Amino acid sequence: MKNYINVTERNFAQALLDFIEESPSAFHAVERIKQFLVPQGFRELSMNEKWSLTSGGKFFVTRNNSALIAFIVGQGEPEQHGFRLLAAHTDSPSFRVKTLPEISVEGHYLKLNVETYGGPILNTWLDRPLSLAGRIILRGESPFSPQIKLFHSDRPLLVIPNLAIHMNRKVNEGLELNKQKDMLPLLAQITEGLEKGGVLINLLAETLNCLPEDILDFDLFLCESEKGCFVGLQQEFISSSRLDDLAMIHAGMYAITQAKPSLATQVLVCFDHEECGSTSRQGAASPLLYHVLERIMLAQKKDRENYFQALEHSFLISADMAHALHPNSSEKHDPTNRPILNGGPVIKLSANQNYTTDAESSAIVTALCQLANVPVQTFVNRSDERGGSTIGPISSTHLDIRSVDIGNPILGMHSLRELGGVKDHLAMANLISAFFETD
Ligand SMILES: [Zn+2]
Repeated sequence: MKNYINVTERNFAQALLDFIEESPSAFHAVERIKQFLVPQGFRELSMNEKWSLTSGGKFFVTRNNSALIAFIVGQGEPEQHGFRLLAAHTDSPSFRVKTLPEISVEGHYLKLNVETYGGPILNTWLDRPLSLAGRIILRGESPFSPQIKLFHSDRPLLVIPNLAIHMNRKVNEGLELNKQKDMLPLLAQITEGLEKGGVLINLLAETLNCLPEDILDFDLFLCESEKGCFVGLQQEFISSSRLDDLAMIHAGMYAITQAKPSLATQVLVCFDHEECGSTSRQGAASPLLYHVLERIMLAQKKDRENYFQALEHSFLISADMAHALHPNSSEKHDPTNRPILNGGPVIKLSANQNYTTDAESSAIVTALCQLANVPVQTFVNRSDERGGSTIGPISSTHLDIRSVDIGNPILGMHSLRELGGVKDHLAMANLISAFFETD
């Protein structure tokens, strides 16, 4: 049997699994992207200082430690060549630990009060070893400048136990889970000394080597504690958490560092808060991108008129995962547009503009795929299914530029373990490289 997956595809998919393992939260993802960009010559710009940019310069900015915009200043005049933008998101559905999280159960168990973030498939979080990841806010020199530290427990810490089938005989006829009652993770057995409370804060303080009273607040999320892996007869599938949308972030960050220089300014946009509607200061509905692009123009001594000209020459790819044909539920798919795992990147279309793709932007992606020698597929919802949306239409209402929605096919979107194709990941990076470098 000839190898279906070649070495380059295998290695690139393995690099994705490593990246996801090191990015258990949006904060960690941004930190990991920074660590990747800096050795490649990218320099961090401060949002509160004046910028001065010259062609070929590589820079990035961050917002809230959870969003990042990286760019390479184009070789041409920006008002004539515009921006090439690849946008994806750093967040995934999960559970956020509430303040005052500790709940004692009859003096025996300690569980954590959590709030659902985005739209996880709840039952996939049951009976799995879980960890905690996010950022901790520590007392700083002044109230307005607290210190921020990342936290990721390096061992499984929590579990959300299922109810035995003997206590819920109808469990297999459809499981209804209450987010406040059924989804609270168990943290500890209450033993001597633990009954006083402050268990979580003490754990954080011990890990960060600080005093418990110096911890002012935290943004902590539950996460998968087992690393992703390959599955299938030829190991042709990727089973991992957070493929949506770290796979697109990972492909984008490789593409921008490896693409040849171009006349256009190449931009990688990593937004946060896609899963809850993008309406935060670091989400796609914020003015963040609009402002950063304008500042890139001003820092090259261009004016607002030039900025609007540049937007007319720009193109945005919104890259977010797509739904692959399901082996057990093929009737849920459109009769003719049926993307499969390992069949290549997917162009997403919606007449009602849940995706920004139109015939022209779709044609551009198809032509780029041909140029990059990458197969391409299309996704349209069944007409009687509502489907999802993504950052593309939200960005479009804030940034007046041509755009398209694409993504790699996966199964089980928003499951704790999503399933993707090994071949698709390298194919997507090659498509994005072609997008960045083709003038
Ligand atoms: Zn997504």
